[in-house]
Amino acid sequence: MSILKEPILKLSKSARMKNFVSHNRIGRSAARRFVAGETLEDALKAARDMNKLGIHVSLDYLGENVFSEAESVASTEQYLNLLGMIAREKLDANISVKLTALGLDVDRRLCLNNITAVLTRARDLGGIFVRIDMESSEYTERTIDIFKELWQSGFRNTGTVLQSYMYRTEDDVHTMIELKARVRLCKGAYLEPPTVAYAEKSDTDSNYVKCMQQLLDNGNYPGFATHDEKIINQILDYVKAQNIPAEKFEFQMLYGIRRDLQKKLAGLGYNVRAYVPYGSQWYPYLMRRMAERPANLFFMLNNAWRG
Ligand SMILES: Cc1cc2nc3c(=O)[nH]c(=O)nc-3n(C[C@H](O)[C@H](O)[C@H](O)COP(=O)(O)OP(=O)(O)OC[C@H]3O[C@@H](n4cnc5c(N)ncnc54)[C@H](O)[C@@H]3O)c2cc1C
Repeated sequence: MSILKEPILKLSKSARMKNFVSHNRIGRSAARRFVAGETLEDALKAARDMNKLGIHVSLDYLGENVFSEAESVASTEQYLNLLGMIAREKLDANISVKLTALGLDVDRRLCLNNITAVLTRARDLGGIFVRIDMESSEYTERTIDIFKELWQSGFRNTGTVLQSYMYRTEDDVHTMIELKARVRLCKGAYLEPPTVAYAEKSDTDSNYVKCMQQLLDNGNYPGFATHDEKIINQILDYVKAQNIPAEKFEFQMLYGIRRDLQKKLAGLGYNVRAYVPYGSQWYPYLMRRMAERPANLFFMLNNAWRG
């Protein structure tokens, strides 16, 4: 792990730093690389542009960890509105939602009501898919629990995310395979203790490959969220060896990262989905992108110095 990863992830939780970076010209210009913009129109434009390149989209309204019922209802309304716009504009897009944006920190029942409202609207609009993002380990069990409750209530336009740095993920992959639920597999973006997650990148990567194979063999349209070319090549080798057709899975990457690879894979006939975040609450998202690649931080500071 880069020595900067941990301090940057710790800073992603600092309210003072958030206030400073969010109102700072350099921070705002850094965010522009990873975030489509602050408004719904910015997000829709980014989605249209990606669709023109043959890339599917998942739109994320930024704003995790709300601490009041009113904020959770406001986030839910943003998502309901977003779903309406996706349907109206016939975008090739689904949505990604964090349960803490819908009130998981406030009250489980409130969060369940909010996500149910989102899933119901998405289903009524022709079955738009709703991905429930995975947050830090304090939420893993609760997220999977709510996901299962939604599944038992009959919603099939939803799926969740599993992180290969978590020890429990292989078991969760089996659970999702049994449910026939769609999984996005990623490495994991949060600061986790060694009691729950691998500390070594090589272990996280090997677990990714193991879970990837299980999802390709027995899963339901898995999404492989990574920019790691080594792993992407392993996926390509595996599907060729096992004769798994391209329509059985998708690659997923983040807006603004490895656009070249996104276009290349789409050009080769693979399904590629870009995760497109938007909204004014971009600070923790930006810091996680900085932590993944501290060179981004130096790039930002260098630009600021030159500017
Ligand atoms: C579509 C999508 C959805 C995700 N959803 C979740 C989620 O719900 N929960 C969660 O915990 N995490 C999520 N993540 C983040 C994920 O867990 C990783 O933190 C992130 O993808 C970086 O890991 P990597 O697989 O790209 O591999 P790494 O080994 O970290 O990186 C491989 C290469 O990718 C490039 N790269 C990676 N990150 C960056 C960056 N920030 N800036 C520039 N280049 C970069 C670099 O070239 C790097 O060498 C998601 C990622 C994607 C792509």
